[in-house]
Amino acid sequence: MLDILLKNAHYLDENFELQQNDLAIKDGRFVPFTGQSAKTTICSDKVWLPGLVDNHIHISQQFLQGKLLFEKPIVWQRINVPFEASLTKDFVKLSAKTAAAVMIKNGTTSFIDSGCPLAIEMIDTLSAIKMRGAIGYQTTDLIPFDTLRTTPEEAFARNLELIDALKENELLSPILGITTLPAATKELQESVLVYGKEQHLLTSCHMNEYESEILNVIEKENLRPYEYLEKLGALHDKFIGPHSLFLSENEKQLIQDNDTKVVHCPYSNSAKGIPETDALLYRHIGTYLGTDGAGHGGLDIFREMRLFSALMQLYSKSKGDYALVNAKEILSMATHSVDPDLGAIKVGKKADLISLDTSNLDYLSGGINANTMVEIAKGSHVNDSIIGGHFVMKDRELLTIDETQLKTQLKEYKSEPSLISAH
Ligand SMILES: [Zn+2]
Repeated sequence: MLDILLKNAHYLDENFELQQNDLAIKDGRFVPFTGQSAKTTICSDKVWLPGLVDNHIHISQQFLQGKLLFEKPIVWQRINVPFEASLTKDFVKLSAKTAAAVMIKNGTTSFIDSGCPLAIEMIDTLSAIKMRGAIGYQTTDLIPFDTLRTTPEEAFARNLELIDALKENELLSPILGITTLPAATKELQESVLVYGKEQHLLTSCHMNEYESEILNVIEKENLRPYEYLEKLGALHDKFIGPHSLFLSENEKQLIQDNDTKVVHCPYSNSAKGIPETDALLYRHIGTYLGTDGAGHGGLDIFREMRLFSALMQLYSKSKGDYALVNAKEILSMATHSVDPDLGAIKVGKKADLISLDTSNLDYLSGGINANTMVEIAKGSHVNDSIIGGHFVMKDRELLTIDETQLKTQLKEYKSEPSLISAH
């Protein structure tokens, strides 16, 4: 028996073309429909598309919303790091629940977290919500905050503990990360990134986000950041380089040769630089979108797509060309991730999908297609969300989070200045 049958469903296929067919879901994946009965059958005029992926988020920084964009650079050293150094267990859990609720409401079905010092504390909260994602520690041994700094040995032990805690988890997986190359010694980089590669786990480090960080690595190693990681033996097909804004030709070649993945965060990056995404896509480099957390314009990947399309139009014009990155490519960047089983409504793929209401006035003139998804759609248009073959939102009602209780919790935090002032 099927878990879910979406009868005569309209959906965007793997090429983001509108199709109509029966969509059958069983054990978390799309399966062929051969007339089987289903526990849940849905007939509607909504259009389904693959769930959005936030490929770079800082879940523990949910409460930095509205506090970063208009600040002077470099915000992560002056604001993000002191904020993370003050986190408590309860606050991280509330942050995780809030971030997950906002993500689901905006059509995001999976995420890759950049890591936080209390990653293991988020497991129960996120597991109960049935959100797909990768969580881990964002390690550093050079930052001057005792609660964040770790030794290579401590980082190794904590990572082993996290890997063990997640080994039976269906939806959550570990990611081993360091904050930035200048914020970690070679010993820490090896104990986290090289070990992660040896175990073929997800690994990550903020890459080529600021010119000053690139210069720091060149000054110290006489190599650009990706060249240094290649020499360290840390590049592989599960390494994720958020930002990757300023890349030399040799770095692009190394990323391509190692099948390393790149994540752009348009709203966050708008204050830093415009990436050469066309050159990355031309090389078939896995290039995805992320928000960089709520502190960088919220968690709506639709809005990131729209902003990214505007940035790419401007970039194209600066190169004397036009539309170097089109809507289907942007939509693909927003729905794909390191996991090759995500990103398409297709038999065999994981059943992470969302629906949009076609009766919404916004779509009555242009319909739902790749162009309108980038130009018109927004998170508040999302009607339903299915993750791993289970509904987590129906008709905008969250099914795995008590939204009323969450709002009460958030109000309590706001009304307690002592709790909020520490953050
Ligand atoms: Zn980040």
